[in-house]
Amino acid sequence: MSELADLYQEIILDHHKRPRNFREMPDCTCSAEGRNPLCGDEVKVFVRLQGESVSDVTFQGQGCAISRASASMMTGKVRGKTEGEARGLSAQVRAMLLGPESELPGALGDLVALSGLRKFPPRIKCAMLPWHALEAALSGRPETTTE
Ligand code: ZN
Repeated sequence: MSELADLYQEIILDHHKRPRNFREMPDCTCSAEGRNPLCGDEVKVFVRLQGESVSDVTFQGQGCAISRASASMMTGKVRGKTEGEARGLSAQVRAMLLGPESELPGALGDLVALSGLRKFPPRIKCAMLPWHALEAALSGRPETTTE
């Protein structure tokens, strides 16, 4: 189990050090800012929708390794998906972190690295923050806060 934990940690650290799609998107169609007061994380998610599809998604902000890695992985997974699929992924991540323990859907890819956080409830808010911001952006809400 500890080898798996090491691998998960490596994935998270890699995304933290070299976040993917970490930039502003001036021509986005929607965006939302998320804040996690518990940890001090702030993330702004930018989305460009082309019809039903997310043609581009990026993020900016500052926060802990978990929030940043989760945001980086989120942008990679959501690009090219439909809005519905993006919301579905968000629900899968939430279920992985907060639902009953079960087999993890293959669609999650690297995101399974976050599953170790199940044992650290306060960090779950860090991991969910970019997903909350994504959903807020898709719903036309400019900001969101984890509770
Ligand atoms: Zn955090």
